[in-house]
Amino acid sequence: RPTVTVLGLPFVNISREEALEALFDYMRAPHTNATVHFINAHCANVAQNHPRYYQALLNANMVLPDGSGVAIACKRVGESLVANLNGTDLFPLICEQMAEEGLRLFLLGAAPGVADTMADKLKQRFPKLEIVGVQHGFFGTTGTDQVIDKINEARPDLLCVAMGVPHQELWVERYRHRLKVKLAMGVGGLFDFSAE
Ligand code: UDP
Repeated sequence: RPTVTVLGLPFVNISREEALEALFDYMRAPHTNATVHFINAHCANVAQNHPRYYQALLNANMVLPDGSGVAIACKRVGESLVANLNGTDLFPLICEQMAEEGLRLFLLGAAPGVADTMADKLKQRFPKLEIVGVQHGFFGTTGTDQVIDKINEARPDLLCVAMGVPHQELWVERYRHRLKVKLAMGVGGLFDFSAE
């Protein structure tokens, strides 16, 4: 896939349709531990001073560009951004297609209650969407094993992780090989917006 590298971080430069196709290829694969993350200008700056976060982005199967700051950074390196692929715009499209294909979604993150409210709203909007689990994002290190068990028992195709940058990327990177999920994706503050 065509990529652009800004501040040493490669991200894909593709259309929204191509991004959705790539995400669903990971979800439909027989066995994968794919990870996908988003970067905006703030993330790119944080990564400069955070080697583990930087590495987590490099190790991701795909990094998607989010926000006008990335478009400006692209222009500076002589490229033009095909699409701003932010999570807020992509997420409803992902849910719609997951519902159509019978794929399984798990929501991990945000304060207690937020993912539950979001799940209720999603079920109203996408009645066929299979939400196979929800878990808040304040379980601490001691709760990690239990949370991983809960996720693995639910067998999600997509695990959305909303625990903030860079905590969510570090968490996914650290535990991706224990997670029986097709695709784990960091989505930042998405649950807070979606539950409103
Ligand atoms: N959060 C969490 N666990 C933590 C810290 C934060 O689940 O240990 C959640 C927080 O409740 C919020 C999200 O992570 O829903 C972070 O949102 P924010 O908009 O700050 O993140 P960003 O989009 O800037 O990464």
